[in-house]
Amino acid sequence: MSEYEPFPPITGEEFDALAASPIVEEARFRCARHGTEAGMVRLRGGYTRGWMVEVESFVYRRFQRVHEPRAEALREHIARGDVQEIYVMDVAWAPFYCVYCNAVYCGACWRTEEIMDPDLPGWVDSVRGVCPAGHERMLSD
Ligand SMILES: [Zn+2]
Ligand SMILES: [Zn+2]
Repeated sequence: MSEYEPFPPITGEEFDALAASPIVEEARFRCARHGTEAGMVRLRGGYTRGWMVEVESFVYRRFQRVHEPRAEALREHIARGDVQEIYVMDVAWAPFYCVYCNAVYCGACWRTEEIMDPDLPGWVDSVRGVCPAGHERMLSD
């Protein structure tokens, strides 16, 4: 469901600088069952330097560059704390969200299963999760 837009090349240093740039918008999401924090989505950057989304959850902490029109939309969704819209933009930005329940769950709620890479022994290829209501989704791939 992700849209991969072409980006101009960026060095590791530029990536790191962008990842450390000011937080423009931030939303923290709580588990529907426990009330504990399940994850966080941040938008960093600015109009001149570009934008980056930061996702922190029990599955992973991930940084990803975002293009302007999508960054604008994401900024509004984060400001409203609208996890459903964030999920619709990119499922990887809401790895704690079950779309069938329309609910956020923490790491204690998701039953996770690591799928190993068949070609690289010892490497986790993806993480599959089952929510408390039995719905299955990819949490990470
Ligand atoms: Zn569910
Ligand atoms: Zn929970």
